[in-house]
Amino acid sequence: MRKKAHFFVLAILASIVFGCSDDGDTYQPTYLPSIDATALPSENHPMTMFEDNESPSKMYDKTDRWFRVNEPFQIIQKGKDSVQVSLYSPVGLTNVKVYAKLPNYDKRFLLYSFSKVPAFHRSFHKIPLTEKKNDYLLESGNTVTIDKIEGFSSGAIQFSVESDDPLFQKFKKIKSNHLVQFHDGYHINELGKFLPMNPVLAKEAITMIINYSYALSHPLYYSTFTNFDKYKQEQAATAGTTINGALNWHGNAEDVNGVYDYLTKDEIEKIYWNYLDKRTVYMAMVGGDSAWGGGNLASQWESGYVSGHWVGEMSVWSHEYSHHIGFSHSSNLANSGEGGGQQEMLTHFYKYLIYLNDLPFTDSDVLKTWSKTNYLTGTYKKPVFIISPKNPFLLKYKGEGKWN
Ligand SMILES: [Zn+2]
Repeated sequence: MRKKAHFFVLAILASIVFGCSDDGDTYQPTYLPSIDATALPSENHPMTMFEDNESPSKMYDKTDRWFRVNEPFQIIQKGKDSVQVSLYSPVGLTNVKVYAKLPNYDKRFLLYSFSKVPAFHRSFHKIPLTEKKNDYLLESGNTVTIDKIEGFSSGAIQFSVESDDPLFQKFKKIKSNHLVQFHDGYHINELGKFLPMNPVLAKEAITMIINYSYALSHPLYYSTFTNFDKYKQEQAATAGTTINGALNWHGNAEDVNGVYDYLTKDEIEKIYWNYLDKRTVYMAMVGGDSAWGGGNLASQWESGYVSGHWVGEMSVWSHEYSHHIGFSHSSNLANSGEGGGQQEMLTHFYKYLIYLNDLPFTDSDVLKTWSKTNYLTGTYKKPVFIISPKNPFLLKYKGEGKWN
């Protein structure tokens, strides 16, 4: 039997001293019970974000609704003694463990254990440290006892989240930390060119941006992106043609007589990470003749949110997102002309991931948005995915390449 150590953390005003008492197996810790977020009492103010009939003013409140794509399960300290827990996901999670790290104690300990967290859940929880002396499970399996601490200044506790839920394991692989928000200025200032979204569409947008961020983070995408010249060569060889257009990624300078401003290997590597950096993207919806992207904006049509992404039609989104990263129509990172650039490659790749079932979400029934006619202007059927036998990733990898 493994000998357990028992630590004791004393809180004296703002500082914490801790002693280690090796009292063997005699101490019987009492941990806080796990929390079922599907059945919380009213004091936790449980709610579902983005309910179909919720006022769109909520989703457009950028101080209230925002998340980083690699942290769909979000925990934010509120006041000195509470946290707000939010899940930006159309599918719930099980067995979510929130660890805390205090500034003057170097071990992470289990603060909350959620047995279930439903889709798009939000609730508020007292920080148990501020309520009374408690035992906490350390990551090592040992126990720490921490005295009551009156409160914490903002940012004093570092939270980290772990879960063995297969969906959470997919979230953990996302390398992008783009911040996602919705912005009503576009349709307010240019109604028609842009259209207002609603929570039904916001749920689809969130689902899509998590999937898309996972796809960009995928090792197969990274290797294709950083060896695009090889991809082009293989594509031409398979088709039995010469290489159409640019051989590799090129930048925003106008191409003169087929002379491209090719990017160096180092520049391509850096650009890849620009797609995955921490910048903010405002997701919006267009209503006019064309979609738009640039600066924080990336937009597409209602049909892209409701149906398109489920069948891998990510061409428009990839194009507008590339404008958002900084590429113009003279670069094949945005433009699909001249033999196809990222728009085409990403779309083929995304479809291959759907085929492999290698995205966080591949079943449109988790939202069934296509059936919610009251909230849509178009009419839709349940999206049905099929992969082309000519998909270059299917031809090359033949069902292999799934991310673990
Ligand atoms: Zn464009």
